Amino acid sequence: MSVNQQAHAGPPYGQPQPGYQGYQQPAYGGQSLPGAPQSQYGAYNGPMPGYQQPVPPQGYFPSLGFPSKGSPVSLNSDTSSLAPNFIGSLRAPPTSGAPPPASGASHPSGHVAYSQFEHGDVQNGIPASAAPMQRPPASQPFLPGSAPTPVSQMSTFQQYGPPQASVQQLRNHMAGMTIGSTAASAPPPAGLGYGAPRPPAMPGPPLPGQTVAGPPSSQPNHVSSPPPPSTMAGLHPGPPMSGLHGPPPPTHPPQPGYQMQQNGSFGQMRGPQPNYGGAYPGAPNYGSPPGPPPPPKRLDPDSIPSPQLNELPPQQKPRHRIDPDAIPSPIQVIEDDRNNRGSEPFVTGVRGQVPPLVTTNFMVKDQGNASPRYIRCTSYNIPCTSDMAKQSQVPLAAVIKPLATLPPEETLPYLVDHGESGPVRCNRCKAYMCPFMQFIEGGRRFQCCFCSCVTEVPPHYFQHLDHTGKRVDFYDRPELSLGSYEFLATVDYCKNNKFPSPPAFIFMIDVSYNAVKSGLVRLICEELKSLLDYLPREGNMEESAIRVGFVTYNKVLHFYNVKSSLAQPQMMVVSDVADMFVPLLDGFLVNVNESRTVIASLLDQIPEMFADTRETETVFAPVIQAGLEALKAAECAGKLFIFHTSLPIAEAPGKLKNRDDRKLINTDKEKTLFQPQTSFYNNLAKDCVAQGCCVDLFLFPNQYLDVATLGVVPYQTGGSIYKYAYFQLETDQYRFLNDLRRDVQKEVGFDAVMRVRTSTGIRATDFFGAFYMSNTTDVEMAGLDCDKTITVEFKHDDKLSEDSGALLQCALLYTSCAGQRRLRIHNLSLNCCTQLADLYRNCETDTLINYLAKYAYRGVLSSPVKTVRDALINQCAQILACYRKNCASPSSAGQLILPECMKLLPVYLNCVLKSDVLQPGPEVTTDDRAYIRQLVTSMDVAETNVFFYPRLLPLTKADVDSDSLPAAIRNSEERLSKGDIYLLENGLNIFVWVGVNVQQGLIQNLFGVSSFSQISNALSTLPVLENPFSKKVRSIVDMLQGQRSRYMKLIIVKQEDKLEMLFKHFLVEDKSLSGGASYVDFLCHMHKEIRQLLS
Ligand SMILES: [Zn+2]
Repeated sequence: MSVNQQAHAGPPYGQPQPGYQGYQQPAYGGQSLPGAPQSQYGAYNGPMPGYQQPVPPQGYFPSLGFPSKGSPVSLNSDTSSLAPNFIGSLRAPPTSGAPPPASGASHPSGHVAYSQFEHGDVQNGIPASAAPMQRPPASQPFLPGSAPTPVSQMSTFQQYGPPQASVQQLRNHMAGMTIGSTAASAPPPAGLGYGAPRPPAMPGPPLPGQTVAGPPSSQPNHVSSPPPPSTMAGLHPGPPMSGLHGPPPPTHPPQPGYQMQQNGSFGQMRGPQPNYGGAYPGAPNYGSPPGPPPPPKRLDPDSIPSPQLNELPPQQKPRHRIDPDAIPSPIQVIEDDRNNRGSEPFVTGVRGQVPPLVTTNFMVKDQGNASPRYIRCTSYNIPCTSDMAKQSQVPLAAVIKPLATLPPEETLPYLVDHGESGPVRCNRCKAYMCPFMQFIEGGRRFQCCFCSCVTEVPPHYFQHLDHTGKRVDFYDRPELSLGSYEFLATVDYCKNNKFPSPPAFIFMIDVSYNAVKSGLVRLICEELKSLLDYLPREGNMEESAIRVGFVTYNKVLHFYNVKSSLAQPQMMVVSDVADMFVPLLDGFLVNVNESRTVIASLLDQIPEMFADTRETETVFAPVIQAGLEALKAAECAGKLFIFHTSLPIAEAPGKLKNRDDRKLINTDKEKTLFQPQTSFYNNLAKDCVAQGCCVDLFLFPNQYLDVATLGVVPYQTGGSIYKYAYFQLETDQYRFLNDLRRDVQKEVGFDAVMRVRTSTGIRATDFFGAFYMSNTTDVEMAGLDCDKTITVEFKHDDKLSEDSGALLQCALLYTSCAGQRRLRIHNLSLNCCTQLADLYRNCETDTLINYLAKYAYRGVLSSPVKTVRDALINQCAQILACYRKNCASPSSAGQLILPECMKLLPVYLNCVLKSDVLQPGPEVTTDDRAYIRQLVTSMDVAETNVFFYPRLLPLTKADVDSDSLPAAIRNSEERLSKGDIYLLENGLNIFVWVGVNVQQGLIQNLFGVSSFSQISNALSTLPVLENPFSKKVRSIVDMLQGQRSRYMKLIIVKQEDKLEMLFKHFLVEDKSLSGGASYVDFLCHMHKEIRQLLS
């Protein structure tokens, strides 16, 4: 290898750019690397059927210059276009469309038909069978009304086991549960840290808290003492409440007599409600009057004893024992929804229909609204007025995952090609053609469902209407009959009015001492040799269009020329990192197949070249700058994969210092721990977004490296961060390689801009996720992959009507992995209500929690954590108090009454409040908190659900002869039995907890050792043993791994072992070591807050 040490003399990057290569056929990377984990739904099964519309005759030009929503028509710059910056000035906006072919008259005054459209060319609708396919292989025509065959059960999902006994009533001692108003966060006990536990075998700082406050083994049945009911350690005191300090005297002796408060409908899940006005699944109910609200559930503490009180041993008997089985159970709600809604497909033809829970395995049929896999809302029936919305305090938000992966049984969005004229849009608000546009005047015009503006139907798009006013080609056109579809974008939607080049991937490897010594550099290089054959490609393409480049770095950068004509790769070193440039004219970004030999040689040589390095310092910002400059020079978008090990302290732009300070926790300065220490990276991120340079960051820290700052660019460019603390080759390589494989292979769009349009009355006001915004409406992402979610909040700006409801249209403009510019459109129609009860009956608590968590996690950047927590509690108390006041039938003030759809709000909210970002335990690192904060911000609803309330499965109850999972149990220590083995997963970790009394045979079968004491908790995988129990458990682990977007870290926890503290952190119904309240305590606290609001 020849090495050129170059001074700063950056020649212009002169590599000739490939021109636009024509429209490639789209697909979704159905390939997968052997050994790579299955994504949640598995890979796409190849290309999807095409849909094509004949190219219209020439002469019609797309409308470009119309003003934004609400403005009178003018021909100024298009401020409402999805891509304002990308649109040049090349075309004069039309002043009209051509007349419809069926009518030669009645032009609107002043309109000039400039189209040369010939009537004879018009087709009334596209005969599906005759239309040439846009996506050729294995294509099936888009048939009118055709829908995928329902598949009742997806193999990748499994039902939990039999339902638990249904909770039929909430009756408890609540009124006596006075809350000590001065109770502040309990001082965190010294204990084992959460976050990345150091592998026990690893030398390094010992884990503190080796003494274990394990479960009291002297107690029968492993039942832990319930917390004292009257203290709420960990809940911040609000305003002093009635001078109560400390536990009050017992006031509620057990009283006899259960009484059914409601007629058995309590506990029934969100499925078809007997009284619910026929909305559930099936027939459309547009505008149908809502049925009466379902009976609320009640807790009546005044009259009901706790049934188990007398069964408890005396020393455990609390003064107010609330039966945990009598408070709403997440397990039960999940189970009931599965049973009620898992068997039927969810058909999206009905406005405002609440989808099944994210934990339910269901199939979706698109009949005009976007699948809940793309969009979920906090409520599907939103208040007509802002006063009502304010009164309820229920946030109106949508969680949008524009490129979500679908299960193989469901149909990917069809690609619609309207030819040179591009997609048909409303003249005023620029909304895209969708099923809710109203065609009028015999089909010659359409009225916008978002802004009511009337737009001429372009001649090529004209079609006659049937007797119901529906276009006769309704079922032939995805954009008229489906909730989700794609348009092929024209050159007007491209940067600089130029079709994009295919994107590039640049691999940038830290080769400092730590990275080399740990074996990481060699591991990455070995992996890339095979992984490069699995770059994303569009369906029928033989090879990926993505070009690749390589950089290594410590405090200087090394670029590699891997041009196919070279016998050996060439290295060029840039030691002046102050003003980064790319020293290669040609040969930096290459086609993998063409340069295969040179690349392989390079990947072989890199570990050798740096094997003896003594360099410990690294730079970071110059690495991103180098990637950015390379993409700029190549005039393409792309992704940087950066593998980085340490705080960048070497002299360079973006140099950082160690500013970690745990003493700031619980002070007003705590927020600085989440903020970047310099604005340098914000500016760099902005430049990256402008170029379409997305950054994925793989971190391997052995100490603090300031994730809050290093994460800025990945975060704002739509990228991902992966963190492997104390990376050890032996235990962590499998997890890292799985993550890397999935990250490289997954579907991703580049240079993406998303806009959410709404019908008159509401508008998108706030956005949460990994992106950059340069104005108030457009969400920009250098890269957007299939896992990324954007949560959007809406506010009223006018009144809504029950008749017309409310509409959302999410339009995502992006470049596919082959360089095709596309628009993906998702539409969703919601109901509107004048009765609060309708709002509460159509809420989605999981989505609400997703929104609230993201809202709170953003809040910690600017407010003290305590303020954020208090605000969350207050908002939820207001939500529930409003329900109680306006929707529930009159009842004793001592009753806690929760809306059916929100009965899990308290337990889930408590999990958010107790999470490491909002209430860190003593050993949670600053980097862990910053990392989790960023992860959660991009999570979808299923991910936040399991992250905040982990899934706990009794493995010893698993049926080894069936494919099903054992029934999940609630996250509380008192649900664990010493004789069983459990699995707990939260999307980041999998714990396998082993009780001290587990049969020796089971231990032998699962771990291959003969006794409990011999189980090593250093294991990172379960041993492969040939027996049914081992196979079953490993298959469960594999299945769970396949459902998550990241490979979870497996941690073996032995009961009463030091790691058990870490495990207990995830038993979220219990009081936490960091001071978080137990579920029971928190419910009491919420009840008190609600009563205060009502009094
Ligand atoms: Zn409009």
